[in-house]
Amino acid sequence: MILFDRGTLGPSWQTEGGRLVATGSHPGDESVLRLDCAWDPRVELRPGAVNAHTHLYSGLAPLGMPRPSPPPANFLEILQRIWWRLDLALDEDSLRASARYAIADALTNGTTTLIDHHESPDFIEGSLDVLATCAQELGIRLAVGYGVTERNGGPGEAKRGLAECERFIRANERSFVRGLVAIHASFTVSDDTIREAGELARKLAAPVHVHVAEDAEDVLDAQQRGYEGPLERLMYLGALPEHSIIAHGVHLDEAQVRRAQSAGLWLVQNPRSNEGNKVGYPSALRASNRVALGTDGWSSNMDDEANALARLGREHGDSVEVLDARIHAGQALASELFEQKLGEVRANAAADVVVGIPGELPRHVVVGGRRVVVQGRLVTGDLAEIRAKAHEAAPALWARMEAVR
Ligand SMILES: [Zn+2]
Repeated sequence: MILFDRGTLGPSWQTEGGRLVATGSHPGDESVLRLDCAWDPRVELRPGAVNAHTHLYSGLAPLGMPRPSPPPANFLEILQRIWWRLDLALDEDSLRASARYAIADALTNGTTTLIDHHESPDFIEGSLDVLATCAQELGIRLAVGYGVTERNGGPGEAKRGLAECERFIRANERSFVRGLVAIHASFTVSDDTIREAGELARKLAAPVHVHVAEDAEDVLDAQQRGYEGPLERLMYLGALPEHSIIAHGVHLDEAQVRRAQSAGLWLVQNPRSNEGNKVGYPSALRASNRVALGTDGWSSNMDDEANALARLGREHGDSVEVLDARIHAGQALASELFEQKLGEVRANAAADVVVGIPGELPRHVVVGGRRVVVQGRLVTGDLAEIRAKAHEAAPALWARMEAVR
C-alpha cells in the first residue's frame, strides 16, 4: 500500500488493489510506503498523462538516425525514405532496445499510458510480445496492435500482420496491456485486407487503430478507388467498430469528423509530427469532443506536445476550451480501452498518478498502484543499462537501415 501523504496541504490518498482510496493518516504503520507530497506547497498529486498515438519502434531515432540527402520532398517520401526503411531494419533486439528506451522516457516524464501502433515487417510474429513484455517489466500501461499493410509483400504480408494481432489478443494475459487490431493506413491496403481486419476486430471485440487522412495522398488514393475518402472506405468495409482510434485526420472536413464522433470513434491529433511533416493543421477536429493528443513517435513528454498544440491551435483559431479539453481527453480514451476510470484523483479511480511540481519532471510516478519512478528515478529498470543498450543497438540499426533499398 502506498500513502500519498499531503500533511496539512489537503486530503491524502492511498492505493488499494491498484486503485485510489481516500484516507486518514497511518501513524506508525510500517506496511505503508509513504510518498511524501508535502515538501513543497506547489506539489500536486495528478493523473498520469496518456500518449494516445505513438510508435515505440522509432524510439532510437533521436540517437543519430541518418537523414536522407537530399531531404524528402513530400510526406510520401518521408515515409518511403525514412520510416519504411527504419521499420524494415528492425529485428527483435533493436525493437526491444527501442521500446525500453522510449518507455523509460515516457515514465520519467509522467506518461503512464501509451497507445502504440507497431510495424516491423521483417520481424512480425512475436513482435507484439516484445513490446508488451517491455511495458510489463517497466510498468507502463500499453494498448498495442500490429499495423497491417501490403506495401512490402502484398496480401500475404497483411495476413501475417492480422495473424499477429489475433494471436496476441488471444494470448495476452497482462492486465496492463490491451491488444488492438491495427491497419497502417487505407492507402497501403486492399479492400479485402480492410474487410478482414474489421471482421477480426468484431470477432475479438477489439478496437482498430489506423492512420487516416494524415496527408492529402491518403484521400486521393481512396477517391481513386471510388470512395469519398479513407474514413468512408474504412467505415463502408466495416473496419471501424466503436472505440476505434483514428490517428491524424488532418485532411478530414467537419462533416466527416462529426461522422466519426457519432460512430464512437476517437481521433488523435499529433501537433509536433504534423508540423514536422508539413502535412497541415487539422482544423476540422474541433467538430468532435472525442479528440486526444499523441506524439506519433516523438518523446512522450506530453507537456511539450500540449505546448505545441497550444501554439499551433492559437495560430489556427482553436479556442482555449477546445485545446484544454483535447489535452486531457486521452485519459477518457484510455478509460474506454482499459475499462476502468483513469485520469482522475478520486476514490476508486486507477492509481495511475504523478507526484510533482507542475512544469517540472515528476518526483514520483505510480501506475496501477505500482511505484515506477521514486524520487525522480526509474525503479522498475536500470536506466543506465537501458540507455547503454539503446546506444549500442542504434548504430547497427542505422547500418541495416542504410542497406534497405
Ligand atoms: Zn503514426
